[in-house]
Amino acid sequence: MRDFTADHRWLSINTATVRRQRGQDWPLLDILDACAARGIRAVSPWRDQVHAAGLAATARAIRAHGLELSGYCRGGMFTHADAAGRDAARDDNRRALDEACELGAACLVLVVGGLPGALAGHPAHKDLAGARAQVAEGIAALLADARERGMPLAIEPLHPMYAADRACVNTLEQALDLCDTLDAARSGALGVAVDLYHVWWDPKLPAMIERAGRLRLLALHVCDWRVPTRDLLEDRGMMGDGVIDIRAVRACVEAQGYAGYSEVEIFSSRDWWLRDGGEVLDTCIERHRRCV
Ligand code: ZN
Repeated sequence: MRDFTADHRWLSINTATVRRQRGQDWPLLDILDACAARGIRAVSPWRDQVHAAGLAATARAIRAHGLELSGYCRGGMFTHADAAGRDAARDDNRRALDEACELGAACLVLVVGGLPGALAGHPAHKDLAGARAQVAEGIAALLADARERGMPLAIEPLHPMYAADRACVNTLEQALDLCDTLDAARSGALGVAVDLYHVWWDPKLPAMIERAGRLRLLALHVCDWRVPTRDLLEDRGMMGDGVIDIRAVRACVEAQGYAGYSEVEIFSSRDWWLRDGGEVLDTCIERHRRCV
Protein backbone atom coordinates (compact mmCIF):
# COMPACT_ATOMS: atom_id res chain seq x y z
CA MET A 1 0.00 0.00 0.00
CA ARG A 2 1.32 3.41 -0.92
CA ASP A 3 2.50 5.75 1.81
CA PHE A 4 0.48 8.99 1.62
CA THR A 5 1.88 10.49 4.80
CA ALA A 6 4.92 12.23 3.37
CA ASP A 7 3.44 14.09 0.41
CA HIS A 8 0.24 14.57 -1.56
CA ARG A 9 1.27 13.41 -4.99
CA TRP A 10 -1.75 11.07 -5.21
CA LEU A 11 -4.30 13.63 -4.09
CA SER A 12 -6.87 14.80 -6.60
CA ILE A 13 -9.45 17.48 -5.90
CA ASN A 14 -12.97 17.01 -7.17
CA THR A 15 -13.73 20.64 -7.87
CA ALA A 16 -17.23 20.44 -6.38
CA THR A 17 -15.39 20.38 -3.05
CA VAL A 18 -14.66 24.08 -3.46
CA ARG A 19 -17.30 25.05 -5.99
CA ARG A 20 -19.10 27.64 -3.92
CA GLN A 21 -17.27 29.25 -1.04
CA ARG A 22 -19.00 31.63 1.34
CA GLY A 23 -21.96 32.07 -0.98
CA GLN A 24 -19.98 32.80 -4.14
CA ASP A 25 -19.03 30.52 -6.99
CA TRP A 26 -15.28 30.01 -6.99
CA PRO A 27 -14.44 30.16 -10.72
CA LEU A 28 -12.90 26.94 -12.01
CA LEU A 29 -9.81 28.63 -13.44
CA ASP A 30 -9.10 30.15 -10.02
CA ILE A 31 -9.59 26.74 -8.41
CA LEU A 32 -7.06 25.27 -10.85
CA ASP A 33 -4.58 28.04 -10.02
CA ALA A 34 -5.05 27.42 -6.29
CA CYS A 35 -4.56 23.67 -6.71
CA ALA A 36 -1.46 24.07 -8.83
CA ALA A 37 0.00 26.58 -6.38
CA ARG A 38 -0.25 23.90 -3.67
CA GLY A 39 1.42 21.19 -5.71
CA ILE A 40 -1.85 19.33 -6.23
CA ARG A 41 -1.34 17.32 -9.41
CA ALA A 42 -4.86 16.29 -10.34
CA VAL A 43 -8.44 17.49 -10.32
CA SER A 44 -11.84 16.23 -11.39
CA PRO A 45 -14.02 19.08 -12.63
CA TRP A 46 -17.79 19.18 -13.07
CA ARG A 47 -19.29 19.97 -16.45
CA ASP A 48 -21.18 23.05 -15.30
CA GLN A 49 -17.96 24.52 -13.92
CA VAL A 50 -16.15 23.75 -17.19
CA HIS A 51 -18.96 25.27 -19.24
CA ALA A 52 -18.88 28.44 -17.12
CA ALA A 53 -15.12 28.76 -17.59
CA GLY A 54 -15.16 27.66 -21.24
CA LEU A 55 -13.92 24.29 -22.46
CA ALA A 56 -10.96 25.66 -24.43
CA ALA A 57 -9.85 27.95 -21.61
CA THR A 58 -10.11 25.08 -19.12
CA ALA A 59 -8.11 22.77 -21.37
CA ARG A 60 -5.43 25.46 -21.75
CA ALA A 61 -5.21 25.99 -17.99
CA ILE A 62 -5.03 22.24 -17.33
CA ARG A 63 -2.14 21.91 -19.74
CA ALA A 64 -0.37 25.06 -18.56
CA HIS A 65 -0.42 23.80 -14.98
CA GLY A 66 0.47 20.23 -15.99
CA LEU A 67 -2.62 18.99 -14.15
CA GLU A 68 -4.16 15.57 -14.72
CA LEU A 69 -7.86 14.74 -14.57
CA SER A 70 -8.65 11.78 -12.33
CA GLY A 71 -12.10 11.87 -13.90
CA TYR A 72 -14.72 14.09 -15.45
CA CYS A 73 -18.04 14.65 -13.68
CA ARG A 74 -20.34 13.60 -15.04
CA GLY A 75 -22.32 11.73 -17.65
CA GLY A 76 -25.25 9.39 -17.21
CA MET A 77 -28.85 10.25 -16.34
CA PHE A 78 -30.04 7.54 -18.72
CA THR A 79 -33.62 7.22 -17.44
CA HIS A 80 -36.39 9.16 -19.11
CA ALA A 81 -40.12 8.80 -19.53
CA ASP A 82 -40.00 9.05 -23.32
CA ALA A 83 -37.76 8.38 -26.29
CA ALA A 84 -37.09 12.08 -26.90
CA GLY A 85 -35.64 12.38 -23.40
CA ARG A 86 -33.46 9.33 -23.91
CA ASP A 87 -32.20 10.66 -27.27
CA ALA A 88 -31.35 14.02 -25.72
CA ALA A 89 -29.47 12.24 -22.93
CA ARG A 90 -27.55 10.21 -25.49
CA ASP A 91 -26.49 13.39 -27.32
CA ASP A 92 -25.53 15.09 -24.10
CA ASN A 93 -23.49 12.08 -23.01
CA ARG A 94 -21.64 12.11 -26.32
CA ARG A 95 -20.77 15.75 -25.72
CA ALA A 96 -19.58 14.86 -22.23
CA LEU A 97 -17.30 12.22 -23.77
CA ASP A 98 -15.90 14.76 -26.22
CA GLU A 99 -15.24 17.20 -23.40
CA ALA A 100 -13.55 14.48 -21.33
CA CYS A 101 -11.28 13.74 -24.29
CA GLU A 102 -10.46 17.41 -24.83
CA LEU A 103 -9.51 17.71 -21.16
CA GLY A 104 -7.55 14.45 -21.13
CA ALA A 105 -9.64 12.85 -18.37
CA ALA A 106 -8.89 9.37 -17.05
CA CYS A 107 -12.56 8.44 -17.32
CA LEU A 108 -16.07 9.82 -17.63
CA VAL A 109 -17.94 9.23 -14.37
CA LEU A 110 -21.52 8.03 -14.78
CA VAL A 111 -24.33 8.86 -12.37
CA VAL A 112 -26.95 6.74 -14.03
CA GLY A 113 -30.27 8.34 -13.04
CA GLY A 114 -33.20 7.10 -10.97
CA LEU A 115 -36.92 7.17 -11.63
CA PRO A 116 -37.61 9.58 -14.51
CA GLY A 117 -38.70 12.98 -13.22
CA ALA A 118 -37.93 12.16 -9.59
CA LEU A 119 -35.02 14.57 -9.34
CA ALA A 120 -37.43 17.39 -10.22
CA GLY A 121 -39.91 16.07 -7.66
CA HIS A 122 -42.31 14.43 -10.12
CA PRO A 123 -41.51 10.76 -10.64
CA ALA A 124 -43.20 9.49 -13.80
CA HIS A 125 -43.67 5.98 -12.39
CA LYS A 126 -42.59 3.50 -9.71
CA ASP A 127 -40.92 1.00 -12.00
CA LEU A 128 -37.42 0.83 -10.51
CA ALA A 129 -36.66 -2.41 -12.36
CA GLY A 130 -37.65 -0.71 -15.60
CA ALA A 131 -35.39 2.23 -14.80
CA ARG A 132 -32.53 -0.17 -14.18
CA ALA A 133 -33.15 -1.84 -17.54
CA GLN A 134 -33.04 1.59 -19.19
CA VAL A 135 -29.71 2.27 -17.51
CA ALA A 136 -28.27 -0.93 -18.95
CA GLU A 137 -29.48 0.03 -22.42
CA GLY A 138 -28.13 3.56 -22.06
CA ILE A 139 -24.68 2.42 -20.96
CA ALA A 140 -24.56 -0.21 -23.72
CA ALA A 141 -25.22 2.47 -26.35
CA LEU A 142 -22.78 4.97 -24.85
CA LEU A 143 -20.10 2.32 -24.53
CA ALA A 144 -19.82 2.19 -28.32
CA ASP A 145 -19.17 5.95 -28.40
CA ALA A 146 -16.73 5.65 -25.52
CA ARG A 147 -14.75 2.90 -27.25
CA GLU A 148 -14.56 4.99 -30.43
CA ARG A 149 -13.02 7.83 -28.45
CA GLY A 150 -10.87 5.71 -26.17
CA MET A 151 -12.53 7.24 -23.10
CA PRO A 152 -13.37 4.74 -20.32
CA LEU A 153 -16.76 4.90 -18.59
CA ALA A 154 -16.82 4.63 -14.80
CA ILE A 155 -20.16 3.63 -13.31
CA GLU A 156 -20.50 5.20 -9.86
CA PRO A 157 -22.88 3.30 -7.60
CA LEU A 158 -24.72 5.75 -5.36
CA HIS A 159 -25.91 5.13 -1.80
CA PRO A 160 -29.41 3.57 -1.79
CA MET A 161 -30.87 6.79 -0.39
CA TYR A 162 -30.48 8.21 -3.90
CA ALA A 163 -32.14 5.29 -5.71
CA ALA A 164 -35.26 7.29 -6.56
CA ASP A 165 -33.83 10.57 -7.74
CA ARG A 166 -30.18 10.20 -8.79
CA ALA A 167 -29.02 6.67 -9.43
CA CYS A 168 -30.71 3.29 -9.33
CA VAL A 169 -27.34 1.53 -9.38
CA ASN A 170 -26.69 1.38 -5.66
CA THR A 171 -24.05 -1.21 -4.94
CA LEU A 172 -20.69 -2.09 -6.36
CA GLU A 173 -22.11 -5.55 -7.07
CA GLN A 174 -24.85 -4.07 -9.26
CA ALA A 175 -22.32 -1.91 -11.10
CA LEU A 176 -20.04 -4.89 -11.67
CA ASP A 177 -22.94 -6.99 -12.93
CA LEU A 178 -23.50 -4.29 -15.55
CA CYS A 179 -19.81 -4.26 -16.41
CA ASP A 180 -19.73 -8.04 -16.83
CA THR A 181 -22.86 -8.02 -18.99
CA LEU A 182 -21.79 -5.14 -21.23
CA ASP A 183 -18.04 -5.70 -21.33
CA ALA A 184 -17.49 -9.37 -20.69
CA ALA A 185 -14.00 -9.19 -22.20
CA ARG A 186 -12.86 -6.73 -19.46
CA SER A 187 -11.55 -4.47 -22.18
CA GLY A 188 -10.81 -1.53 -19.87
CA ALA A 189 -13.52 0.56 -21.55
CA LEU A 190 -16.01 0.07 -18.70
CA GLY A 191 -15.44 0.03 -14.96
CA VAL A 192 -16.48 1.57 -11.69
CA ALA A 193 -15.82 4.65 -9.60
CA VAL A 194 -15.60 3.63 -5.95
CA ASP A 195 -16.89 6.55 -3.89
CA LEU A 196 -16.53 5.75 -0.22
CA TYR A 197 -19.49 7.93 0.71
CA HIS A 198 -21.76 5.64 -1.27
CA VAL A 199 -20.34 2.18 -0.60
CA TRP A 200 -18.59 2.25 2.79
CA TRP A 201 -21.49 0.49 4.57
CA ASP A 202 -21.69 -2.48 2.17
CA PRO A 203 -20.76 -5.83 3.79
CA LYS A 204 -19.76 -7.05 0.33
CA LEU A 205 -17.40 -4.13 -0.32
CA PRO A 206 -14.07 -5.99 0.09
CA ALA A 207 -15.30 -8.93 -1.98
CA MET A 208 -16.62 -6.65 -4.71
CA ILE A 209 -13.40 -4.65 -4.87
CA GLU A 210 -11.58 -7.92 -5.36
CA ARG A 211 -14.10 -8.95 -8.02
CA ALA A 212 -13.59 -5.63 -9.81
CA GLY A 213 -9.85 -6.09 -10.03
CA ARG A 214 -7.44 -3.57 -11.46
CA LEU A 215 -9.10 -3.33 -14.88
CA ARG A 216 -12.49 -2.29 -13.48
CA LEU A 217 -11.25 0.06 -10.74
CA LEU A 218 -11.14 3.40 -12.55
CA ALA A 219 -11.51 5.92 -9.74
CA LEU A 220 -11.44 6.23 -5.95
CA HIS A 221 -13.44 9.05 -4.34
CA VAL A 222 -12.88 9.83 -0.68
CA CYS A 223 -14.61 11.85 2.02
CA ASP A 224 -16.17 10.78 5.31
CA TRP A 225 -19.58 9.85 6.73
CA ARG A 226 -20.60 12.26 9.46
CA VAL A 227 -22.59 11.12 12.47
CA PRO A 228 -25.19 12.44 12.42
CA THR A 229 -25.56 13.22 8.72
CA ARG A 230 -27.76 16.32 8.59
CA ASP A 231 -28.47 16.49 4.86
CA LEU A 232 -28.72 13.63 2.37
CA LEU A 233 -26.73 15.39 -0.33
CA GLU A 234 -24.64 18.21 1.08
CA ASP A 235 -23.28 17.04 4.40
CA ARG A 236 -20.30 14.94 3.42
CA GLY A 237 -17.49 14.99 5.95
CA MET A 238 -13.82 15.80 5.56
CA MET A 239 -11.64 12.70 5.85
CA GLY A 240 -11.09 12.00 9.52
CA ASP A 241 -14.32 13.63 10.69
CA GLY A 242 -16.53 10.55 10.33
CA VAL A 243 -16.80 6.79 10.62
CA ILE A 244 -15.41 5.47 7.34
CA ASP A 245 -12.28 3.33 7.67
CA ILE A 246 -10.79 5.02 4.63
CA ARG A 247 -7.38 3.42 4.86
CA ALA A 248 -8.88 -0.07 5.05
CA VAL A 249 -10.82 0.48 1.82
CA ARG A 250 -7.80 2.00 0.12
CA ALA A 251 -5.82 -1.08 1.15
CA CYS A 252 -8.39 -3.29 -0.60
CA VAL A 253 -8.34 -1.16 -3.73
CA GLU A 254 -4.55 -1.04 -3.89
CA ALA A 255 -4.30 -4.78 -3.24
CA GLN A 256 -5.91 -5.11 -6.67
CA GLY A 257 -3.21 -2.94 -8.21
CA TYR A 258 -5.05 0.37 -8.25
CA ALA A 259 -2.35 3.03 -8.46
CA GLY A 260 -4.37 6.11 -9.40
CA TYR A 261 -5.40 9.20 -7.51
CA SER A 262 -7.47 9.42 -4.40
CA GLU A 263 -10.00 12.08 -5.28
CA VAL A 264 -11.47 14.19 -2.50
CA GLU A 265 -15.14 14.87 -3.20
CA ILE A 266 -17.01 16.77 -0.49
CA PHE A 267 -20.39 18.48 -0.84
CA SER A 268 -20.81 20.48 2.35
CA SER A 269 -23.23 23.37 2.44
CA ARG A 270 -23.10 23.52 6.25
CA ASP A 271 -19.37 23.46 6.76
CA TRP A 272 -16.69 23.33 4.08
CA TRP A 273 -18.51 25.47 1.52
CA LEU A 274 -18.79 28.15 4.20
CA ARG A 275 -15.01 28.47 4.47
CA ASP A 276 -12.29 30.09 2.44
CA GLY A 277 -11.44 27.87 -0.54
CA GLY A 278 -7.71 27.95 0.16
CA GLU A 279 -8.32 26.77 3.72
CA VAL A 280 -10.40 23.87 2.38
CA LEU A 281 -7.64 22.84 -0.05
CA ASP A 282 -5.00 23.06 2.69
CA THR A 283 -7.20 20.90 4.93
CA CYS A 284 -7.67 18.35 2.13
CA ILE A 285 -3.89 18.08 1.78
CA GLU A 286 -3.38 17.63 5.51
CA ARG A 287 -6.18 15.08 5.91
CA HIS A 288 -5.12 13.22 2.79
CA ARG A 289 -1.75 12.64 4.46
CA ARG A 290 -3.15 11.80 7.88
CA CYS A 291 -6.43 9.99 7.20
CA VAL A 292 -6.35 8.56 3.66
ZN1 ZN B 1 -18.09 10.46 -6.35
